Order: sequence, then C-alpha cells, then structure tokens
Amino acid sequence: MLNASLNELSAALAQKKISSAELTQLFLDRTSRLNGALNAFITVDAEKSLAQALAADERIAKGDAKPLTGIPVAHKDIFVTKGWRTTCGSKMLSNFVSPYDAHVIERFNAAGAVILGKTNMDEFAMGSSSETSFYGPVKNPWGPAYVPGGSSGGSTAAIAARMAPAATGTDTGGSIRQPAALSGVSGLKPTYGLVSRYGMIAFASSLDQGGPIAKSAEDLALLLNVMAGFDERDSTSVERAAEDYRRELDRPLAGLRVGVPKEHFGGGLAAEVGKAIEAALAQLEKLGAKRVPVNLPSSGLSVPAYYVIAPAEASSNLSRFDGVRYGHRAKEYRDLADMYFRTRAEGFGAEVRRRILIGTYVLSHGYYDAYYLKAQKIRRLIADDFVAAFKQCDLIVGPTAPTVAFKIGAKAADPVQMYLNDIYTIPANLAGLPAMSIPCGFGKDDLPVGLHIVGNYFSEARMLNLAHQYQKATDWHQREPGGIRP
Ligand code: GLN
Repeated sequence: MLNASLNELSAALAQKKISSAELTQLFLDRTSRLNGALNAFITVDAEKSLAQALAADERIAKGDAKPLTGIPVAHKDIFVTKGWRTTCGSKMLSNFVSPYDAHVIERFNAAGAVILGKTNMDEFAMGSSSETSFYGPVKNPWGPAYVPGGSSGGSTAAIAARMAPAATGTDTGGSIRQPAALSGVSGLKPTYGLVSRYGMIAFASSLDQGGPIAKSAEDLALLLNVMAGFDERDSTSVERAAEDYRRELDRPLAGLRVGVPKEHFGGGLAAEVGKAIEAALAQLEKLGAKRVPVNLPSSGLSVPAYYVIAPAEASSNLSRFDGVRYGHRAKEYRDLADMYFRTRAEGFGAEVRRRILIGTYVLSHGYYDAYYLKAQKIRRLIADDFVAAFKQCDLIVGPTAPTVAFKIGAKAADPVQMYLNDIYTIPANLAGLPAMSIPCGFGKDDLPVGLHIVGNYFSEARMLNLAHQYQKATDWHQREPGGIRP
C-alpha cells in the first residue's frame, strides 16, 4: 500500500480491500516512525485525519466516491487550513489556527481526500533547502545529512519516504520542482493562475503558484484535476473550462518536438547531472520524440531579476499583507495580519529579514528604476525567449537543478550559492509557464537527479504525457530510499 499509485489506492478503497481509516492509519504510523528523523511534518493531528477518513468511508459505502475520496494528502504548511495550525514555517505564525480553508484545501475536502498533516518548509517559502524553517531543517530521505531541497522540502521528503501518497507544494522560483528533483519525486508547477492562491500565504504574488507532488506523473494528473479551476476570490485566477489532465497520458511521443536549451548545459551544471539528463533525452528519442536545439538567451539573467522582483513583492506583502486576496474575508484577513504584527517584535528568521531588506531597497526612491524597473524588463525578455522557443518545439527539457542534494549547512552561509539552485526553474515562474520535474537517475552519493519539463501556457496535459511515457519506459520514479526502511 505504501508504494501504490493513487489509482491503485482508489481501486483498493472501492473494492473494500482497505478502508480509508486503515489507509490513513497506515500513513500516520509510518509518519510517527519516521518524522523524528526526517522532520517532514510540522503538524500531525491523527484525530482530525481519522475523523475525515471515517467520513470518507461513509461516502464510499454510499457509492458517492470520487477518484481521491479516502486518500490521505499532506499539505504544505503554507495553505491555511480550518481548525489546523498553519505556520508557513515561521515562528510568527506558531500559534495561528486558521479560521478558514485555502481554495486548494476546500477542493481536496470536497473531493473527499483526507488531510494527513501540514508539511515543513522554508520560512514563508523563502529558500531552496528547507533549512530556514523555524521548526528545524527537513532531512533528505536519501541521506539524512543532505537537504531535500526547498521550499516544499517537507512535502517532497514525505513522498520520498512514503509517509504520504500525495502532497501539495508551492513554487515561486522552483519550490516544487527543485525539491522534487533533490528528493527523487515528481512535482508540477501549473501555469500561473490555474490553481487559486486564495488562502495560500503569499510570498511573491506575481510568481506564486500551488501544485501537486507525488510519485508519478499519473498521480500528478489526478491531483491537478482536483486543484485546478477558477476561483473568483483570487483576482489572477484564470477562468477557463475544466480539463481532465489524464487525457493525454497514453498518447505516443512519436513526432513530439523536445526543445533542448543550450544555455541550460553550461558551466554550473554538475557533470553527473548532465549525464543523467543526456540519458533521459536519449530515452525520449527512443520513444519517438525529436530533439530540437533551442535558445533561451536571456535566461542567464533570471536569477538576478528574480532576486529583485520576488523580494520586492515579498516585502510589500509582509508589511502591508495582501489585502486584495483576502478582501472577501475581511475579518480573517485582519486576524492573520494582526498575527503578523503582534508577533513581529519576535522577529523573522535571517533569510526573511534579508529579503525584506533587498525588497525595500529595490523599491525605494532613487533605486526603483535601476533595479525594479530593469528587472521587470528582463522578465519580459525571458518571456519572449520562450515565445520564440515554442515556435520550434512543443516542450522544453533540461536539468531541474544544477547539482544533486547538498549537505545541510553547506550553502547556508552563502546566499548566492543557495540562490543559484533555481537557475533553471526561475525562468518558468517569470514567464508564468507550467513546468515539472521527474526523477531521471542518480548522481554523486546515490542522490537523485531531476528532469525538468517546461510547457507552453496551459499545456499541462502534454507535459504529463511526456512524463508518463518516460515513466512507463523507466523505473527511476519507483526507486525508494533504502536506508529508511523500518
Ligand atoms: N528558492 C527560491 C527562493 O528562495 C524559490 C522559492 C520558492 O519557489 N518558493 O526564493
């Protein structure tokens, strides 16, 4: 059961081979065995989870089940969750119990899924290693001396360690894809606006996007079916017809044009990662895909542009809070804002303070044009690069991160080294494009490597098609970290 796909779990529940209460207990047991070592969850509440599981069992008995009914899902602790403590990895919110649910949580609740717990993360999602959490660093299940990536590292570690069959994350500059790569799991950042950000605590509102994390592309498709959809409470939510993201999973790859950006194979790329990506590209060609060289000439500027734009938006959020998004919930908004300010004296962690400083500086009079405005122009150039590239190819493939997981503490003192983790993932956020990462091999110290797939706007089904066909032909996504077997 711990290794089963979501379809298999759904079938087992329908055939009464297992109840949701038993399935939930199974993952809760595993979590209580492993969480002390891995620190993937900030909050677990077995009583609440099991009550939801019992309700799901009733629903299944009544013949009213949907695909995810009764399936436990771990949520990044950035999604406010009614009745659950929601900390965003921060001391600031250490006793904040949300009075309402984020849109994403509402969607999973309506589908009958079970909330398995709230996962650990970098404070306010600022980081690439899940080390900046007030609740302590998350350990990588493939080697506890290593980071799992971040900021959604609690969710990716939970999936890798089989503490949860499915999870959610958020991605502002790579926080779903980079930890998915470093933890050896699959994760997808949808097109900006596809998943509502209502109740998803803001980091940088023009970049933030929630998405699913799981063992396979097939599972991601099922989860995205639940998460995606219009929500009038998020002013950037896109109004479009619902899709079934599973619909192209079985399409053959023959004729698919896979763009390979030469800029993503330069100096900073570890040789072992490059080798795994080359092997994956060869596999895709074997499956009928055509390899097309493309150029993303401005992508080299993505990290500096991002580290102007994201801190600028973050510092605005943290000082004024996001009134637009919470406007329909004035009281709840005030509660949350109030919590920020009452506890403010106790201070944010060092990384959050650094971002506020950078953000305030680049927005200040006299520096705005030189930094913020210039970064916005670079953002446009990066988006234009993709417009040109997608005239030549259907999907873009390359490495998710330049290296495999690094040791806890190794980059903590050097913010620039830390920021360079997201060199390949940030361009998709700046352009608002969908992108995902899937396991494609192993590098140094037997640590996982991730394959990055970027699609044109709303081409999630096609990305999942490539990923699923690749996963049918390979077994990297089924590999499990050995050392943590109980
Ligand atoms: N690592 C990047 C940062 O620290 C991206 C984080 C994210 O996507 N939330 O800003």
